[in-house]
Amino acid sequence: MATIRSSGVSPTGIETFELTNQNGLRLEVITYGARLHRLFVPTKKGEYIDVLAGFDDADGYRAVNPYFNAAIGRSINRIRDARFTLNGKTYLLCQNEGKNCLHGGKDGLHGRLFTPTVKDGKLRLSYLSRDGEENFPGNLTVEIVYDLTEKNELVISYEATTDEDTLCNLTNHAYFNLDGDFRSCLDMNVYIRSHKITEADEQLVATGKIIDVTGTAFDFTTAKPVGRDIDKNNYLFRNALGGYDFNYILDEADPSVPAATAYSDKSGIKMTVYTDRPCLQFYSGNFLDGTVKGKCTYNYQSAFCFESQGYPNACNIPSFPSNVLRKGETFRSTTKYLFTVE
Ligand code: BGC
Repeated sequence: MATIRSSGVSPTGIETFELTNQNGLRLEVITYGARLHRLFVPTKKGEYIDVLAGFDDADGYRAVNPYFNAAIGRSINRIRDARFTLNGKTYLLCQNEGKNCLHGGKDGLHGRLFTPTVKDGKLRLSYLSRDGEENFPGNLTVEIVYDLTEKNELVISYEATTDEDTLCNLTNHAYFNLDGDFRSCLDMNVYIRSHKITEADEQLVATGKIIDVTGTAFDFTTAKPVGRDIDKNNYLFRNALGGYDFNYILDEADPSVPAATAYSDKSGIKMTVYTDRPCLQFYSGNFLDGTVKGKCTYNYQSAFCFESQGYPNACNIPSFPSNVLRKGETFRSTTKYLFTVE
């Protein structure tokens, strides 16, 4: 069971919590956007490496940044034309990226203050997203629970209920670099248990087409360095600004087998992701361009994300499994990040 303590409230009212397990794994979480702030992983050399991008203090996250380590909702990824129709009614969401809606809109969960509760060695952060917030229907109650296990897993569990049918596709947008120096993520060795991606067009919106990537540069079923096969002449890489920014459909939605791993030869840190969600967005930090300065300067491809998710833009693609949460149903999902040192 993790030891949890509050380490105070910032001048703008953001509370920070520290979770520590018996092995010295230490996580800091802030109530603003239910964000991960720091995650120190012990190495073989006895060092502690913070593997998360971010800012020096909690208030830093209020500045413009690409969703650093935030809870994302109500709907991760891009919704074409920021529009969907549910039960015969059309909803226009916030067009916060061109004409599309990205990551739940301008003031999605990433910018909301959550209410903390500490119970049984876990940190629970709750938020009520009111009917009409960011133009989504229904009052959506969101609970996100953070746990650090003795096996060195960071476990993030999500639960949501609604009083009206709505969209619900929640995740966390952690940016990792397992060297902790945020120089480049291209040397990290990545494995993803998937043979298929959903095609993303030049606006990075899912078109509905599913591509078999077996044996191509997009295939990570045998672990390889992220940068090895990037081919800037390929239209998918071009659409993704010269890197990976793709939704991988996991071979089976089985939370007991790894969905993905990342390993750094330099630090020896390995991260293994387990999830019950059907898909995983693998993003190699292609929009990072050195303009965000926090704990350090985040340059192009200095960090990567594994975002567990439902099918992107499913509300506009009838052949994709739906992300609709019905009144009376409960959205439940768990994603685990296991840290080992090799
Ligand atoms: C998307 C990227 C986007 C990033 C930050 C990721 O989930 O796939 O395209 O730039 O989030 O917004």
